[in-house]
Amino acid sequence: MKIAVLSRNPKLYSTRRLIEAAEQRGHEAQVFDHLRCYMNIASSKPQVHYKGQVLEGYGAVIPRIGASVTFYGTAVLRQFEMMGVYPLNESVAISRSRDKLRSLQLLSRKGVGIPATGFANAPHDTGDLLDSVGQPPYIVKLIEGTQGKGVVLAETRKAAESLVDAFRGLNAHFLVQEFIKEAGGADIRCLVVGDKVVAAMKRQAKEGEFRSNLHCGGSASITRLTPQERAAAVKAAKVMGLNVAGVDLLRSSRGPLIMEVNSSPGLEGIETATGKDVAGMIIQFIEKNARAGRTRTRGG
Ligand code: ADP
Repeated sequence: MKIAVLSRNPKLYSTRRLIEAAEQRGHEAQVFDHLRCYMNIASSKPQVHYKGQVLEGYGAVIPRIGASVTFYGTAVLRQFEMMGVYPLNESVAISRSRDKLRSLQLLSRKGVGIPATGFANAPHDTGDLLDSVGQPPYIVKLIEGTQGKGVVLAETRKAAESLVDAFRGLNAHFLVQEFIKEAGGADIRCLVVGDKVVAAMKRQAKEGEFRSNLHCGGSASITRLTPQERAAAVKAAKVMGLNVAGVDLLRSSRGPLIMEVNSSPGLEGIETATGKDVAGMIIQFIEKNARAGRTRTRGG
């Protein structure tokens, strides 16, 4: 099968591993920088052009679209979908998962456990908003943040109020969450492929830090999931409509709580921590599921 990988950088670990795994299994895989793809939407026969060529004959497309280029990246992916090319993750599902508020709303609607979360726009109701989330400490998160940047622990109610005021002053969108203390500065990354968790790792924050992000000095180790955790991760991916997802959860005293569902999970950390061939499993999933025109929107 001819497989297109949409990625800005062919040298990235995840991109390289997907290409390698596809070639090992006898496929022809090529990387295209989605920002260099261009399209003619008016024609009745949708096409994607790249460096003067028309991209044709692809059986599947693997989107690896960074958060900062979601808008254009998903437009390119949608064009492949209109051509009937099977997307590993659909454009609508990616857009859905990139919106933190929308994701949490969808997850809670489908009964997936999430930390108590509040968000507001007007400055008048900060007190009531905090009350609705519970007692301090609180976590205040910038909606646009990644890699743990913009996630702040407010130990007291006063501190939370000041933070909320500061974020508002900057016109930033944020949410307030209960602090899951018993998680002990750790979270669990579950790599979901289809209806299975194929690999999982625990990320532990360094001493004196509550954020477990590897970028914040956290360390990764292998972990065994409970059946309840597996079920929660698979359900979260399904609710978002993602075939492949990195689901982050916190171990709380009332069971697993989903924090985030990532549509382009990095493979380096999880393959290194678990020794598993996740890229190979993704290619196998494509082999089983890729059919021309099979781009029905799922989830939601
Ligand atoms: P980002 O998307 O920027 O990585 P996250 O929402 O994943 O931000 O938060 C970063 C880290 O902070 C998480 O990996 C987790 O360790 C910690 N964290 C986030 N939310 C909570 C919470 N409600 N309770 C306890 N720890 C949290």
